[in-house]
Amino acid sequence: MSRKLFVAGNWKMNTDKSGAVGLAGDMKEKIGQVTNVDLAVAPPFVYLPAVIEVLEGSNIQVAAQNMYCQSNGAYTGETSGEMLNDLGCRYVILGHSERRHVLGETDELVNQKVVKALSDGLNVILCVGELLEQRKGGLTNEVVARQVKIALEGVGKDLDEGRLSDRLTVAYEPVWAIGTGETATPDQAQQVHAMARGLLADMYDSSVADDIRIQYGGSVKPSNAADLLNQSDIDGALVGGASLDAGDFAAIVEAGVN
Ligand code: PEP
Repeated sequence: MSRKLFVAGNWKMNTDKSGAVGLAGDMKEKIGQVTNVDLAVAPPFVYLPAVIEVLEGSNIQVAAQNMYCQSNGAYTGETSGEMLNDLGCRYVILGHSERRHVLGETDELVNQKVVKALSDGLNVILCVGELLEQRKGGLTNEVVARQVKIALEGVGKDLDEGRLSDRLTVAYEPVWAIGTGETATPDQAQQVHAMARGLLADMYDSSVADDIRIQYGGSVKPSNAADLLNQSDIDGALVGGASLDAGDFAAIVEAGVN
């Protein structure tokens, strides 16, 4: 089975408007015409329109870093899937560990967001991953499996628009590896990716599970990207820190292509 690699950059709460526009422009120049890897960047909400405009005509898609599970109403500070569609944003990252562990999102809320985003026609990058204590306690598979199962409750393999396997990417991001410089070894990551794929096969069927891309995230950089991306169940990367440098992000993409 060969799945097309998908490399996405999460800029988190970084950049200012001119920095975001400049970074998007540099990426467009370096990798905007790459076609054998799917690409996306996730700027802060307020810079989505500016980045979408810069990236027009390139193969780099734009993702939001979050969204809310309602269409509109009294939800101060929140952003709906309809609003993202309105801007031309095609992807949304849901369940990022910073949203779970810093901002208190539960598995159940992540599930409501996933269901809503898929029904809004957005492509979902669903983040899952264990804390360091959970890994040390031998709970990695249990934690990741629970997060995947709850996040996808009520989600079938055939959606109103398209197939789940074309619209969902799972990002395995061990929390202890995010922004810390620590990376899971390729073997550690492969083991969890294979477990998650087996779980998706049990939840759906093996052809759906084979087609769903499972990205690795957690201190991916040019120096470790090739070893990670060479693993059979690692279908791309969700890149935080290194996606704030167009040269590093391009080098990670190139590591995946070669
Ligand atoms: C992330 O933000 O999803 C991430 C993986 O960050 P970093 O690459 O900086 O660890």
